[in-house]
Amino acid sequence: MKKFLSLFVIALVACSATVAAKPKVIAHRGFWDTPGSAQNSLKSLELADSIGCYGSEFDVWLTADNVLVVNHDDQINGLVIETSQSADILKQKLPNGETVPTLDAYLEKAKQTKVKLIFELKPHKNKAHETEAVKLSLAMLREKGLMSRTEFITFSPNAVEQFIKRTFNPVYYLNGDYSIDVLKEKGCAGADYHYGVFKKDPGMIKGIQDAGMKVNVWTVNKEADLQHFIDANVDFITTNDPLLAQKLIKASCKECPKACKKGKKSGKK
Ligand code: MG
Repeated sequence: MKKFLSLFVIALVACSATVAAKPKVIAHRGFWDTPGSAQNSLKSLELADSIGCYGSEFDVWLTADNVLVVNHDDQINGLVIETSQSADILKQKLPNGETVPTLDAYLEKAKQTKVKLIFELKPHKNKAHETEAVKLSLAMLREKGLMSRTEFITFSPNAVEQFIKRTFNPVYYLNGDYSIDVLKEKGCAGADYHYGVFKKDPGMIKGIQDAGMKVNVWTVNKEADLQHFIDANVDFITTNDPLLAQKLIKASCKECPKACKKGKKSGKK
């Protein structure tokens, strides 16, 4: 009986450790690869929330007249966002019929959801304008009561510094060229690197986690790659296929059904 109990406890501990390490799913530019949606649209945010993603990622720019807008590329239909007027940018249509959203509209939609906001500030050519974008973004998130649900990501070393200086929120660097020591020294919550960086240096994932930081990996879409990073116990997976990622994570949890059920509940917030 004693031996059985010991084995049970060992199995339980191993099981909990496995489940605790399962990655959380972040929908890249929202859940957009589905009818009626589009990248960075209000619908994509709503849908990422509706399928129980941990987070929904989106991209933010500041127009020349200081309006924050949500869009991936630096330009839309030939208009460069950071040097254009908001009136022109906000007329542009997304493939699902919505127009380019202001950050204000996007955050109003976010108030109706529970998903984490994975806020990417794009690197602006004018660094003073970029710093202004950081300040205006933080003021808006605070005013809307959404700071506690927001994590920042950026390719810009200036924006990394600005967010860390001005908030206690997690800030992740995207560009893949900071070593573990530099990430730590800058005060980053971790690395949010392209999957190729981690495939080239597989020890880096554990190295970052051992240094007390977290690992997010982008943009992982193929089944074999998703499974690779689930098995590598990264903290977050950013993907264009959140349903597939969720399915694979659930399947890899099969050995611990009880704990997984618990994890799924907390994953839905
Ligand atoms: Mg992005």
